Amino acid sequence: MLENVMEFFRNLPPKQCASCGEKMEEQAEAYGTTCEKCSTPE
Ligand SMILES: [Zn+2]
Repeated sequence: MLENVMEFFRNLPPKQCASCGEKMEEQAEAYGTTCEKCSTPE
């Protein structure tokens, strides 16, 4: 089962911001579907 999990993460497409479409790093999990810029209110 562990191998399946590894495979799953390896095949994950790069995260993209739902707002500006910019690629996001893994840490972007905390920001949901938008990048830091788009999720930060101005
Ligand atoms: Zn964005």
